[in-house]
Amino acid sequence: MSSTVHFLTTTHNPSLPFSPATAPRHLLRADRALFLIEKSKTINQLLQIHAALVRNGLEHHPMLNFKLLRSYSSLGRLDYSRVLFDRTHDPNVFFWTAIIHGHTVHGLHQQAFLLYSQMLTYGVEPNAFTFSSILKACSIEPGRALHSHALKFRFDSDAYVRTALLCVYARGGDVVSARRLFDTMPDKSLVSLTAMITCYAKHGDVDGARLLFDRLEVRDIVCWNVMIDGYTQHGRPNETLGLFRQMMSSNVKPDEVTILSVLSACGQLGALELGRWLHSYIKNNGIPFSVSVRSALVDMYCKCGSLEDAQLVFDRIINKDVVAWNTMIVGYSMHGLSQDALELFSRMCAMGIHPTDITFIGILSACSHGGLVLEGRAFFHSMKEKYGIEPRIEHYGCMVDLLGRAGLLDEAYELVQNMAIEPDSVIWGTLLGACRLHGNINLGENIAEFVIANGLANAGTYILLANTYAAAGNWNAVAKIRTAMKDIGVLKEPGCSSIEVHNKVHEFFAGDMKHLKSKQIYLMLEEMNGWLKAHGYTPQTDIVLQDIGEAEKEKIIAVHSEKLAIAFGLITTQPGTPIKIIKNVRVCTDCHTVTKLISKITGRKIIVRDRNRFHHFVDGSCSCGGYW
Ligand code: ZN
Ligand code: ZN
Repeated sequence: MSSTVHFLTTTHNPSLPFSPATAPRHLLRADRALFLIEKSKTINQLLQIHAALVRNGLEHHPMLNFKLLRSYSSLGRLDYSRVLFDRTHDPNVFFWTAIIHGHTVHGLHQQAFLLYSQMLTYGVEPNAFTFSSILKACSIEPGRALHSHALKFRFDSDAYVRTALLCVYARGGDVVSARRLFDTMPDKSLVSLTAMITCYAKHGDVDGARLLFDRLEVRDIVCWNVMIDGYTQHGRPNETLGLFRQMMSSNVKPDEVTILSVLSACGQLGALELGRWLHSYIKNNGIPFSVSVRSALVDMYCKCGSLEDAQLVFDRIINKDVVAWNTMIVGYSMHGLSQDALELFSRMCAMGIHPTDITFIGILSACSHGGLVLEGRAFFHSMKEKYGIEPRIEHYGCMVDLLGRAGLLDEAYELVQNMAIEPDSVIWGTLLGACRLHGNINLGENIAEFVIANGLANAGTYILLANTYAAAGNWNAVAKIRTAMKDIGVLKEPGCSSIEVHNKVHEFFAGDMKHLKSKQIYLMLEEMNGWLKAHGYTPQTDIVLQDIGEAEKEKIIAVHSEKLAIAFGLITTQPGTPIKIIKNVRVCTDCHTVTKLISKITGRKIIVRDRNRFHHFVDGSCSCGGYW
């Protein structure tokens, strides 16, 4: 090729490492050479063949050079491909496409683009493969430009080009363009369908993805994984498990990707039995126990309330990476085992593992749960100073929580006001919660007004404020807040408690009568009430926000979802069996008191995971020490 191109090329070794002059001459025919190039497995073999080509006067053979160029690139020596390309006189579209493809595959996207524009400058028209190669490297904006090129060169109806374009739009989150392309595809390949499903799932429309998924006649493992993971990532673990069962009954064998998604779903649901089943499935079906799989098991066992199992799996990880350490640290922290979390952190640092931002979320929340103010402050400062990690909103959240619980409201408020990032509704909610806990109505009111006026209020903010007023008996203010919530359509997330019994997860909402065993459950509730009253329990009716009579309030709290789940656990499991409950929102003070008493009266260990943490209720007391 002409020498003008050279100034555009990247730095490279200008020669190939062989010396044809010194080697003995043997006759090599072009067809034999072609065969040898295709069979080559190492760079050395390729270099020997290349030398032989030169000796036999075949160094300008276009087909042989084309094959050599591709083979060098696929064996990892793009620099040799490049030398060969630069020496090619007047390269045709196949050469250009091969060198563009080589750069794309090696992640050199800018150079691939540069080559593409050079090719156009030389008057060489791209073909369908050029487009599908260059599109693999593309983000959305250059992708749109290439789309118009594809239209210009009339390759827009080529199936490969369309699929590659669809993938560009899908990756970039342009669901509309992706869908438009998809709908006009006469032949929808599995790749294009998978790309489209990924696009929906990644951008929130899991149901749209499911509709497409259900239309597929043939589904490969990638397709199943995309859909299963879509549900997990969007916090819809029940659907993950449903689809997983469907996959198993279609005789598709899960791989590591599937296992990671399903373990995560088990953790979200607290489905310990299914999690255990997966653990033995991994063992019995030769799925490698990679560090990721083991960490996912640790995470699942922690979230399902079985720290013992989590520890066993964690101890068996030989080359623990930072994700594995983080998972166990966060696990200890959510169970309120602050000292264990901090000890593990020291062990991790002693092993020379550099902590990440997630590590600090684990240890800061451990400090918060354990009321360790001094340690928390020190870790928060060391994060940036010693480890160079800029605190994120979650770290500030942990600090506000830590200071707020300890009653250091002014310090917490000051921290929020001086944050390097804009505080969000969670931070304000945490601060508001602390004001309520310590009865600081003035500060609480100020914060709530600010939060509501700045559009940062969520259902939690309103409820906290209403709780604060209700505790002070200011029913007018409570009523105003309830009206405001209705007017602007703030919805309170309904409390839901789930319990796994005999491999099935049972869900309960407050006052739920839908369960098949409802009659027995409510009889059990009455019996529980009898026990509680005998132990001097009085319902904490101040948490009910309606201005109604005491008896009405008592009726409302008596059927909170976790009480129904506990009653169900008591009637369906053997005496002495621990009861494990997963709650989607924070446990209320009344349910907390009731659970403590029930653990004492029945002698059962009751483990409740709420939105914030785990509560281990044993013999009348809770591991959270009343702070949650
Ligand atoms: Zn409750
Ligand atoms: Zn507790």
